[in-house]
Amino acid sequence: MENGIQIAIDGPAAAGKSTIAKITASKLGYTYIDTGAMYRALTYKALKEHIDVYDDDALSSLLDRIVIELLPTEEGQIVRVDGEDVTEEIRSQEVTSNVSATAAQPRVREMMVEKQRLLANTKGVVMDGRDIGTAVLPNAELKIFMTASVEERAARRFVENTKRGINRSMEELCQDIANRDKADTERIASPLKQASDAIFIDTTSMSIEQVADAIIHHAEKRKRP
Ligand code: C5P
Repeated sequence: MENGIQIAIDGPAAAGKSTIAKITASKLGYTYIDTGAMYRALTYKALKEHIDVYDDDALSSLLDRIVIELLPTEEGQIVRVDGEDVTEEIRSQEVTSNVSATAAQPRVREMMVEKQRLLANTKGVVMDGRDIGTAVLPNAELKIFMTASVEERAARRFVENTKRGINRSMEELCQDIANRDKADTERIASPLKQASDAIFIDTTSMSIEQVADAIIHHAEKRKRP
């Protein structure tokens, strides 16, 4: 895409980044890249192989020998690890509670950032995560930092979980989200933080459509002629 741009969307857990990123990418005809799914896929494989999620050496050598694929389909993104479809498995409670440990490992992050830059090496991409605007795509033409209150994020996750048959109370979800925010914000290696040139959007009282429209509006202004 000749005049496409790179759009980086960062923010805390369950802020609606992937839902919004997917809609934005589809409306603009861009490629959507879910970097959280890559950390989740590595965590899934580590748990399966009984690898310590705090062991950077073991995790990085695991990452070196596995193949993570993000495949866009009509029904949404499919995630594969070494050919196995793990789209559902990477959203499990076990992976969710361990992923921030894996993602805090410096060598793991270096390798992931390298992979993510290669994936984004085309114009017309929407990439979401925690460090996209600050570390992965520091030159992205449009950076968004999206958040919502913890209660609102837990409520949205509750609805999503119900559809998936996952049974977790609002209290537990608030706690999960707060724990993940703390781990992601306080880690040493590229912590979650708003890039100085990012646009801040508080989505607490906004609809999905309103947020996507706001981002598309900003993207249109930044497109090259
Ligand atoms: O976005 P999602 O909730 O699927 O991300 C799962 C976890 O992966 C986050 O809580 C964070 O620990 C990690 N992550 C990250 N950097 C990214 C994307 C995700 O550290 N770019």
